Amino acid sequence: DRPVHIVGGGLAGSEAAWQIARASIPVILHEMRGVRGTAAHHTDGLAELVCSNSFRSDDAQANAVGVIHAEMRMAGSLIMRCADANQVPAGSALAVDRVGFSEAVTKALTDEPLVTIVREEVEGLPPAEWDQAIVATGPLTASALADSIAEATGADALAFFDAIAPIVHFDSIDLDTAWFQSRYDKVGPGGTGKDYINCPLDEAQYNAFVDALIEGDKTEFREWEGTPYFDGCLPIEVMAERGRETLRHGPMKPMGLTNAHNPSVKAYAVVQLRQDNALGTLYNMVGFQTKLKYGAQAEIFRMIPGLQNAEFARLGGIHRNTYLDSPRLLDSSLTLKGRPGLRFAGQITGCEGYVESAAVGLLAGRFAAAEQLGYRPELPPLTTAFGALLNHITGGHLSTDEEPGKRSFQPMNVNFGLFPPLEPGTKLKPDGWEGRFRGKDKAAAKKRALSARALSDCEGWLNGQAVEAAE
Ligand code: FAD
Repeated sequence: DRPVHIVGGGLAGSEAAWQIARASIPVILHEMRGVRGTAAHHTDGLAELVCSNSFRSDDAQANAVGVIHAEMRMAGSLIMRCADANQVPAGSALAVDRVGFSEAVTKALTDEPLVTIVREEVEGLPPAEWDQAIVATGPLTASALADSIAEATGADALAFFDAIAPIVHFDSIDLDTAWFQSRYDKVGPGGTGKDYINCPLDEAQYNAFVDALIEGDKTEFREWEGTPYFDGCLPIEVMAERGRETLRHGPMKPMGLTNAHNPSVKAYAVVQLRQDNALGTLYNMVGFQTKLKYGAQAEIFRMIPGLQNAEFARLGGIHRNTYLDSPRLLDSSLTLKGRPGLRFAGQITGCEGYVESAAVGLLAGRFAAAEQLGYRPELPPLTTAFGALLNHITGGHLSTDEEPGKRSFQPMNVNFGLFPPLEPGTKLKPDGWEGRFRGKDKAAAKKRALSARALSDCEGWLNGQAVEAAE
């Protein structure tokens, strides 16, 4: 009857506590609000939403976040139950009354006899006498704990400032315009000399692009985010403002590249994209960290030849964040390598968003419960949204090509680009469909098929766990 300890009663910690209690295991939930606040939270309620009140798309047919909603509901998620009960109208999105939502989560956990809520700041890594613990302290982890995590994992292992570049779905890049080539055809370790996708701009296109960057709508930093940029990751629009040629001598330099479609014409500038996940379904725009507003980003980046139809798995942004280099530090069930029984969950693991944080809390809770009952945690299949997100965090991401002061592993929302491609021969065309079946219709059918596979495999995974628990 030894309890599992959870540090942090946010989205992830609250969900983890609920899942563990459902397995009839006692939980002690340590939450510092009530004793000490954060720069973004306003209340003492559990699972407070710090910014928007949206859980994003609830459409499981068309959107990967809708798929993870559905999987969480199947797994008896407290966060989804309270969100559904406190819904406000938002079209196909799931938005909630934030006060009602947080109160519902707080009440459910307060009323649950197996959960004890302790209001205190945990000032260091969980002590060894807590045989199972989950740290779910989020992007604004209090500094004493952040320091001891950094110390235990290596001084450069926690990021406190997060500059992210957009990520594009590979199959939306126009390879009749763009081409594969590494600069100077350089073959690095494990490389082929064709590791990057290159998009060429002529002089007029470059000038129009720089003008658009300078004029584009920017988000302003909040006061508490007033950390200076470090020079290695200036936003591209700041570089553009420093001089018309700055980008051409920086991330958009054309040197060492020959347009495979038009070798005799030298590009004036080049945008490079680098493979972002092991599956090769996602590519990031190299050096393109930005704080342009989301709408402006999509519009401006589609001015780049080869990206005119780009679909973005994630847009760029800069904000304070605390997260682990999880592919290096965590094992496949979210345990810190070398520290059995110590798991991480939520945004601190390098997922992004309320829903993803809660989903990773759900998984960490189930894994800790299984281990407390003496089982080896069974991982969700990679084909599920749970499995795809977990794989991104713990291993699916390519951790190569590190640059000093930067980290190649970046927080990310769940998206279909993280799922393995459909099996060849998967039927996409609906029965009775007549005429053309391409473009948008085919893309929508692919999403429906990925979603159907995910939900069916998730059901199988959950049923397997139920059988195991009953044995
Ligand atoms: P949190 O929900 O932040 O929970 C962590 C909890 O741990 C907090 O309650 C905190 O008080 C507690 N804690 C921290 N340190 C300690 C300690 N040492 N001891 C005890 N308790 C501790 N995502 C979206 O989907 N939409 C948005 O609009 C959005 N806006 C965001 C705005 C900001 C300013 C930030 C920072 C993030 C935003 N996010 C947003 C990202 C992310 O989804 C949320 O931060 C989400 O709440 C993360 O969930 P979590 O459970 O990992 O962390």
